[in-house]
Amino acid sequence: MNLIMLAPPGAGKGTHCTWLTEETGVAHISSGDLLRAEIGTGSALSRRLAEYTGRGDLVPDDLVFALLIPVVVAAARGTGGYLLDGFPRTVSQACRLAEIGIERDLVTDAVVYLRAPDAVLVERLLDRADREGRADDMPDVIRHRLAVFSADTAPVVGYYRDRGVLIEIDADRPVGVIRTDLRQRLADRGVLAPSAA
Ligand code: ADP
Repeated sequence: MNLIMLAPPGAGKGTHCTWLTEETGVAHISSGDLLRAEIGTGSALSRRLAEYTGRGDLVPDDLVFALLIPVVVAAARGTGGYLLDGFPRTVSQACRLAEIGIERDLVTDAVVYLRAPDAVLVERLLDRADREGRADDMPDVIRHRLAVFSADTAPVVGYYRDRGVLIEIDADRPVGVIRTDLRQRLADRGVLAPSAA
């Protein structure tokens, strides 16, 4: 299974990737987690990365590719697929991923778009800030990340919709309801085995 999770901050990408990985065994690759791990090393690169993530801006493509592509290729080889969380986030990242998919026979099966109103997303992120204390879950940075999603990532939704691989899910519902719906939609497309559905 080669799957992409596309969603604004706070929509629940991580939550749904967790059970999908448990059920399929496919590696969950979170670009945000990889970036935060790199930032935690304190290297020269980490300081550059933290400037972008701290503001809620996207990290430049070349840095993201260098960090992510080897992980995606290795994970796909090791686990039989990929479950991408937070990547691609721009149309240029989507194009690069498509090239690699064709070169290496790792073409994306489906793209899940979790959508929810901004007010719901802001509320969830502020709630998470209290629990996890992530540096970019501050009110002004949250607003900026949502604006970056609208400007840079919303076009990626259109890119995949045009290619007929988009599964659109209303994420403003309880987690269990979303999970049942998503599992069914993936099974309908033959992405998840019917037995798992
Ligand atoms: P969220 O979806 O809640 O914003 P993530 O953990 O996915 O959180 O991303 C956190 C930050 O990491 C982003 O605001 C951005 O700075 C950076 N980032 C993550 N993925 C990418 C990507 N594919 N391209 C560029 N920057 C990224």
